[in-house]
Amino acid sequence: MTAISNEEITWTDGIEKKIYDISVSLSSETPVFPGQPRFDKQFMLSLAKGERANVSGFSLTSHTGTHVDSPNHFIEDKDTIDKVPFNRVMGRAHVFEMNVAEKIDGPDIRSLTIEPKSIVLFKTKNSNLWTERDFRKDYVYLTKGAGEVLRDKDVAAVGFDYIIPDEFENQERPFHHVLFKKDIILLEGLNLNRVPAGDYFLICLPLKIKDGDAAPARAVLVEL
Ligand SMILES: [Zn+2]
Repeated sequence: MTAISNEEITWTDGIEKKIYDISVSLSSETPVFPGQPRFDKQFMLSLAKGERANVSGFSLTSHTGTHVDSPNHFIEDKDTIDKVPFNRVMGRAHVFEMNVAEKIDGPDIRSLTIEPKSIVLFKTKNSNLWTERDFRKDYVYLTKGAGEVLRDKDVAAVGFDYIIPDEFENQERPFHHVLFKKDIILLEGLNLNRVPAGDYFLICLPLKIKDGDAAPARAVLVEL
């Protein structure tokens, strides 16, 4: 089973558009942040056991797999996930391919052309890590300086292709804080492996969890 499939839809103008599914599959194999429980699904009713239907229950954290972080994740009086405006999780998005070894820093992105209020997604070598069951601490991360550049460019949201955009060892989580202070939303756990750099329309709607800090989402990019 592949993590990403390409499909076509007929868009509102009648033209066929390619869709990229940039979500990761949720299963017990999905890598999770160290110390957090893996996704777990249990059948409550099972056709294989001769019962009348398949009905399952599942458990996961608010940050498992592809998900949206609200500013309330780190700042108590900020919007929770059910209050995140649609224009921060749906809209014009640009995928930038970043060939960096260790981190994305301010100077790496300062010269990029980024429209204010647009959604920016960074494709890195992290997208190859989704085939590994265990969390990798050596993922490419975003620095505080990168956060300040994105804040100053007035982006609506930032998408990232691994589980946490801040450096693993930095408990201050400065990238998150810089963005959340300005209500910029984080889309995490994206798999951009098969997506060419360029402009798209993004749809990444988090589940409407009342007073939630974050929530799982299905994320797709529609070609323009
Ligand atoms: Zn998160």
